[in-house]
Amino acid sequence: MGSDNNRVRDGRFHCNPICPRRVGHMYLLWGHVDTSFPLHGMIGPDWPCMICTYVLILGGGMMFAQYVILETSLGWTGVMIELALAGVTCLAFTFAACTDPGIVFSELYDNVELEEGGGGSKNLCTLCNVVRPPGVTHCYDCDVCVEELDHHCPWTGKCIGKKNLRCFHLFLTSLFGLIFFSIAGLIMMTMIGDK
Ligand SMILES: [Zn+2]
Ligand SMILES: [Zn+2]
Repeated sequence: MGSDNNRVRDGRFHCNPICPRRVGHMYLLWGHVDTSFPLHGMIGPDWPCMICTYVLILGGGMMFAQYVILETSLGWTGVMIELALAGVTCLAFTFAACTDPGIVFSELYDNVELEEGGGGSKNLCTLCNVVRPPGVTHCYDCDVCVEELDHHCPWTGKCIGKKNLRCFHLFLTSLFGLIFFSIAGLIMMTMIGDK
């Protein structure tokens, strides 16, 4: 899947899961580029890291549920809360990791420039061949220009930008909830000697 004519160059491109296409160093598994997960599935160049993240969240959540939370007075109610938190975390993670972070395509901004009559504050990305309006940054890991690039996240295997930042924040919030609940369970079990 590495040949250059297999590379997606415009935002309207559509593909099916049998034939994944490259968008920079990312992979579009299904759907249109200019939608978002679950209408499309787009994973980053560091997608193997996603597997580690899933294993850590689900494995960690199940271990804590069985060996810590169940040993406290919270019992099965606590187990359900722990597993629900792990589930929500995984779901938010999937949305952040499988959606377009806000990739800028050349044709999209050709139109913008025509409408604006050519703004002076835009610069050119020679790697993507796109005219960049302010706030667009090139990610060298993903090899694409991204709107409001926050950072390239190894855990999700891709960039966090304009279109997946909210899901990423939801992922972080639920992850902190999961960690907080797990540690609280651990304290109940060990220090207080609950049950
Ligand atoms: Zn670029
Ligand atoms: Zn990136």
